[in-house]
Amino acid sequence: MDIQQNLKEVLADIPQQVRLVAVSKFHPKEAIEAAYTAGQRIFGESKVQELEEKYASLPKDIEWHFIGHLQTNKVKYIAPYIAMIHAVDTYKLLAEIDRQAAKAGRTISCLLEIHIAQEESKYGFSLQECRDMLDEGSWKGLKNIRICGLMGMATYTDDTDQIRNEFKTLHDFFLELKQKHFQDTDSFKEISMGMSHDYQLAIEEGSTLVRIGSKIFGERNY
Ligand SMILES: *Cc1c(COP(=O)(O)O)cnc(C)c1O
Repeated sequence: MDIQQNLKEVLADIPQQVRLVAVSKFHPKEAIEAAYTAGQRIFGESKVQELEEKYASLPKDIEWHFIGHLQTNKVKYIAPYIAMIHAVDTYKLLAEIDRQAAKAGRTISCLLEIHIAQEESKYGFSLQECRDMLDEGSWKGLKNIRICGLMGMATYTDDTDQIRNEFKTLHDFFLELKQKHFQDTDSFKEISMGMSHDYQLAIEEGSTLVRIGSKIFGERNY
């Protein structure tokens, strides 16, 4: 597995304005070091314990993104250093991130996870739940979080029309919320969508952050 070559190929495939989150979950720190040496600085992890160990032993200029489902009782561990939390799917979690960020003297960038796939099992707000949460307005009092945009995962399928439609749904919803709640908020600009098997489609549909793991680091051993 030539991680540096894979990284180079993926980067060559991504336009300048799209940022790459190299998803290193389940891969050892040596794999991250290889990508780091090749210049990659943004890494994505989905388990708090694993991230904690990697954070402690790897260079401090790495920008860590938490991309997995985050339990409220674990926010406190990563609040001192996490750069972005991609999968905020309840107001309760958002409020806890705010509380822990305040304790750490920080403002944490968050994305709201929207359920766009047909699969039942995926987390995320429905469009209506997200509208209701934002309309209700309490989030405006949270001063230590920054809502930077949306995140979504398409259905795992070979049907590219379906994947494309789901990404379109997320992009359209981003525009709706931008217009309604974030018109004067420059930092509301991110659409995190696209993984190893569907990032090209995601980019065509307006992704600004792609989360790519296996295409760079190889298959994961769970
Ligand atoms: C694991 C994971 C990825 C990366 O998946 P690959 O198919 O390996 O690119 C992206 N996003 C999330 C939320 C993940 O959990």
